[in-house]
Amino acid sequence: MESQSSVPHPWDVEADVVVVGFGAAGMAAAVTAHDLGAKVVILEKAPEGQEGGNTRVAGQGYLNTSSADSAVAYLTALCGPYTVPETMVRVWAEEMGQNNAWLRSLGGDPQEHQHPPVGIEFPDLPGADCVHKFHDGPTYGYSYTWKLFERLVKERPIPILYETPGRELIQNDITKEILGVRALKGGKPITVKASKGVVLTCGGFENNQEMIRNYLPGVPYCYTSGSPYNEGDGITMAMSVGADLWHMNNYAGPSMALKVPEVPTTFSMQALHYSKELPGGAIVVGPDGRRFTDEKFKTRHGKVPVNGNWLPLATPCPMYLIFDHTHFSAGPIYDKHPSHGWTQIVERYDWSADNSAELAKGWIKSAGSLEALAAVIGLDPAVLTGTVGRWNDSCAAKQDAEFGRTLMMNPIVNGPFYAVELSPSMLNTQGGPRRNERAQIVRPNGRPIPRLYSAGELGSIYSYLYQGTGNIGECLAFGRIAARNAVAESPWG
Ligand SMILES: Cc1cc2nc3c(=O)[nH]c(=O)nc-3n(C[C@H](O)[C@H](O)[C@H](O)COP(=O)(O)OP(=O)(O)OC[C@H]3O[C@@H](n4cnc5c(N)ncnc54)[C@H](O)[C@@H]3O)c2cc1C
Repeated sequence: MESQSSVPHPWDVEADVVVVGFGAAGMAAAVTAHDLGAKVVILEKAPEGQEGGNTRVAGQGYLNTSSADSAVAYLTALCGPYTVPETMVRVWAEEMGQNNAWLRSLGGDPQEHQHPPVGIEFPDLPGADCVHKFHDGPTYGYSYTWKLFERLVKERPIPILYETPGRELIQNDITKEILGVRALKGGKPITVKASKGVVLTCGGFENNQEMIRNYLPGVPYCYTSGSPYNEGDGITMAMSVGADLWHMNNYAGPSMALKVPEVPTTFSMQALHYSKELPGGAIVVGPDGRRFTDEKFKTRHGKVPVNGNWLPLATPCPMYLIFDHTHFSAGPIYDKHPSHGWTQIVERYDWSADNSAELAKGWIKSAGSLEALAAVIGLDPAVLTGTVGRWNDSCAAKQDAEFGRTLMMNPIVNGPFYAVELSPSMLNTQGGPRRNERAQIVRPNGRPIPRLYSAGELGSIYSYLYQGTGNIGECLAFGRIAARNAVAESPWG
């Protein structure tokens, strides 16, 4: 913290509003603040070409709710017992309904998702009819909506400092106001003055394994299909100036995916797509060699029904996808279609058509018999053969007596046999510094930290259940709210 006398002088960079992180929330905050007349600068951790965070590689849908009253009912129901203050819910509902009008006013061309996937995630909850999902461009996916967001920033004189991670907030130790940000530019420390306010929009903690262990329920580790640059920096920065946290245990996951050390993000396996019928058999077993779920169940962003509740999918680690040669030889086991996901869109890992390269790398293990495969991956051979035997019986009976699976009911019979280790994977985290209805970051006593705002998945409103496209919708809504309130501040100096 700074005393008045140790306030940096001169500053390396000066602006009215400093936006930390260039994804959807950063875009909405920067464009809104600029259009209200503020001088804006964006700090971005990634190098040019890898900015955009999860927004760049998302499914590209954003929510524009149709009726504020229905939206209030739906979000309240989504929060369940993990309630969010009513004022916050109401502001969210009113602003989410403005997303299309705002983007249209800037030259966007909102297109409603067509069936499928219209995707009301919890159609039985009150107010669910408020859900309307939109994208920009010819279809969802393929970074189309992001391309609009990127253009809206780049067509304005808003400097974007790439490879410049925000590291610390500069706070007046008497007034507790946030005066600016310490960042690293090209590895060198710089100071960035924010005469009106700082808006933190630097995403969640998808790549911070310590935070994952501390905050996410049931996963000893977890990897992401989104940006590798989201490491919880905003949480650390906000906590260091006294912020409260919320929703730290809520995340869009887990699913099950391959993670290898060579690539920072996860690979999605074709056999786990809930809708795909593929040749050959494939099941997932835990470290005890037994199945634990319907592998093809479409979770609700990682949540599954358990005795009338929705709980995160159990992911006993390490998990193994077990399959036979019929499945192996039917084409790439990885879904490399570049519609969404960091591995597909940014890494562009070129998986071999016959899976041979990944077999040679050891990402896929194989053996001539199930007993030998069990030995390779350290499972009990008798248990694994018993599990596969029960699965094959279920396939013959056309009924999965254990978990009720109905898709891809093909036996695992044609050797050689294969295994891929699976890890818990997620799209994004929802937790972070608690914000209020003005998008101010607040302390544990509820009082705002002066001149500090946030938007996006860094402390999102979703406390329990999540409606797909709700994250980018919220980024737009709270990005605008944060910017309007920051611009309305009187400059501190
Ligand atoms: C595969 C996938 C599909 C998804 N599909 C959808 C969808 O269709 N609809 C939907 O609503 N949600 C979807 N989500 C979730 C959604 O993408 C995110 O929650 C949302 O885009 C988050 O936006 P954001 O602006 O808060 O953060 P991000 O878009 O992640 O942007 C954060 C930015 O901050 C930068 N950054 C990080 N640390 C620092 C630092 N210290 N200093 C400066 N910059 C920093 C990052 O590099 C990044 O550019 C999906 C996510 C994934 C991974």
